[in-house]
Amino acid sequence: MSHLAKLLGQARRTVCEVEADTVNVNSSCVIIDCREPEESSSGVIPGALCIPRGLLESKVERLVADKGQPIIIYCASGVRSLLAAKTLHEMGYAQVTSLAGGIEAWKASGGTLSHIHEDTQFDRERYLSQLKLPDLGEAGQARLKRARVLIIGAGGLGSPVALYLAAAGVGTLTLVDHDTVDKSNLQRQILHTSDRIGLAKVESAWITLRALNPEVNVGRLQRRFDFSLAQEIVPDHDVVVDGTDNFTTRYLVNHVCHRFNKYCVHGSVYQWQGQVAVFGGEGPCYECVFPEAPDGEMAPNCAEGGVLGAVTGIVGAAMACEVIKLLCGIEGGLTGAMASFDLKGMDFARLKLDRDPRCNCCSMPRESDVYRAAKSEHCYLRT
Ligand SMILES: [Zn+2]
Repeated sequence: MSHLAKLLGQARRTVCEVEADTVNVNSSCVIIDCREPEESSSGVIPGALCIPRGLLESKVERLVADKGQPIIIYCASGVRSLLAAKTLHEMGYAQVTSLAGGIEAWKASGGTLSHIHEDTQFDRERYLSQLKLPDLGEAGQARLKRARVLIIGAGGLGSPVALYLAAAGVGTLTLVDHDTVDKSNLQRQILHTSDRIGLAKVESAWITLRALNPEVNVGRLQRRFDFSLAQEIVPDHDVVVDGTDNFTTRYLVNHVCHRFNKYCVHGSVYQWQGQVAVFGGEGPCYECVFPEAPDGEMAPNCAEGGVLGAVTGIVGAAMACEVIKLLCGIEGGLTGAMASFDLKGMDFARLKLDRDPRCNCCSMPRESDVYRAAKSEHCYLRT
């Protein structure tokens, strides 16, 4: 008897094999594909976790923490998986079975395959905690991977938004900011560091975000967000994040989001207070709620009015939550509502916002000449 045959015999005395036609992909059982990546790329059993045999011992405990969890492991023909199942059993997994005949038997029994496309492939280990969220799961993670989010402003709000969206695995983040890092930014703009003072904020952001999650494509535009740039880049994104600190840009963002029918996740902070809202969709736009910008001296920005960095962190993290909910189709978002935070008194409120049927922005047809004329005049007046 060959050594391999002896090993397989020992494995069969320890773990059971299951037939392909008894495998139910909709059960709570974890299915592990232990083939090499080049083999898995031709298709896997739907929902399978891909952990190549050589990485099994080092990865499985992080990916399948519950050792009482039923597991079916498979390979191409059922040999590697039988030995792998024995290893899992020795590691303490109590309910491990190996798929007899492997993926070939699965296909022969009429089982379907799910193909891992590059645009939805993600590192499960990295996102393990959020994959467990019932609202998000594998489908939500794949949607995040495919998503493109435009973040206007890499400052106090743009920093936490970009950090959390990159960490969550949003596939493409495009950052627009014309400014460079100043020492006085560092108290709240946590994308940037002391050794990057003078560097373009978008470059500094790129360094930070790439270090956090190399899977994310980070586009960077060191430009002012003006009307021509807005028209060029907004259509190419799924959601727009307004992290600006001035009303000129805020109204421009609002107009362009209406023009191209994009959701805008808005945030603002002042001293200990913050607001988050989602404009667009069935809800109002920014201009429905704030038809006129306040005079300059009535609307100080962060540098003038003062703000605690942690307040921008909370507001920005809430904005990142709203973006993720929009991208994954998760209910409970702030469309038609505004969350208001007073971090000094720890007072939180959710306010309903109504659409204004006479709004200068969203009551206009998206593509009519009238709208274009009104929009350009509007932008001109505020620039
Ligand atoms: Zn409106």
